[in-house]
Amino acid sequence: MLKKFDPNITLVIPVYNEGSHIIHSLKVIENEIRNVTQKYEIIIVDDGSTDNTWMEISNHLNSLPNLFIIRLSRNFGKESALVAGLEHAAGEAVIIMDADLQHPPSLIPKMINIWKEDEVGIVECVKRERGKEKLRYRLGANFFYWILKRFTGYNLKGASDYKLLDKKVLEAWKKMPEKDTFFRGMTAWLGFKKIKCEFDVSPRIDGEPKWGFTKLIKLALNAVVSFSSLPLRFVSIVGLLFFIAAIFLGIQTLYQKINGNALTGFTTVILLQLIIGSVFMISLGVFGEYLSAIYKEVKGRPRYLIENVMVSGNLTNKTETKELKRNYVEV
Ligand code: UDP
Ligand code: MG
Repeated sequence: MLKKFDPNITLVIPVYNEGSHIIHSLKVIENEIRNVTQKYEIIIVDDGSTDNTWMEISNHLNSLPNLFIIRLSRNFGKESALVAGLEHAAGEAVIIMDADLQHPPSLIPKMINIWKEDEVGIVECVKRERGKEKLRYRLGANFFYWILKRFTGYNLKGASDYKLLDKKVLEAWKKMPEKDTFFRGMTAWLGFKKIKCEFDVSPRIDGEPKWGFTKLIKLALNAVVSFSSLPLRFVSIVGLLFFIAAIFLGIQTLYQKINGNALTGFTTVILLQLIIGSVFMISLGVFGEYLSAIYKEVKGRPRYLIENVMVSGNLTNKTETKELKRNYVEV
């Protein structure tokens, strides 16, 4: 049976190995959204979970009537999972949130109110205080935002992915074709009228954060490379400074030679070689970063691959869209 269903609000939730509490989280989230509207859809993107997440959700489909679940073919990372969810959102507004209840669902009605009353494009939830977390996560996060602010000029400290986007903002966002996305930065770049609403991060409901240190470093590099060309310019500036220093050193060396003191210059030569060598290395590294970013974009690979989809009760018309019909699991 295919029903026409135009949701007002779409919730997009990327999920990776959250099987132990996903149903509880969904129930809590659903309770909040139901207070505001019955016409909502929840898009879950299962980012290649290796635990029982998919099973848990399929076992509880009957009690969660407005679910649309996309299973990616492997773990593509939260950013790509978000892209998958946003590309399938049909609501007049989209709310993006985490599955571990660290983004308090109680804010959903408030966000929707702000969006309706002030006609804003984006309602951003900013963290008042980072929740209880291990020191290395806190240090990692602070370092990440510091680097980002230095290099891109965007101060994203406190920013979270917990946001509401109006449909027109979502359409604008879809016009950004990059393969390596950094959602927080992209929404900052988009502009549009924004209103902030503060929240305290609650502790994770269960499980460990899924960001390894290397994943965080990768995200930081990605963010800098895709939002700033300052590192490239930095290389040119250092190059220029060294050129000026080289002229002075050259004149000095010649002067020493004319005076018959040429041998004493050895230290300078060695130092120069070392310094120039290291500057070359750094520059090559920076070029490498940008080259690999360009390489990824040029390859033009899809940002995610769908392995399967599931829909529950009210959303069966969703399967009419795109290639999803083939994989459609009837419930
Ligand atoms: N997540 C994901 N793919 C990943 C890592 C995380 O979809 O590779 C999801 C995760 O299930 C959660 C959200 O992204 O819903 C935030 O992840 P987490 O709680 O681990 O990060 P933090 O709260 O530290 O930002
Ligand atoms: Mg979390």
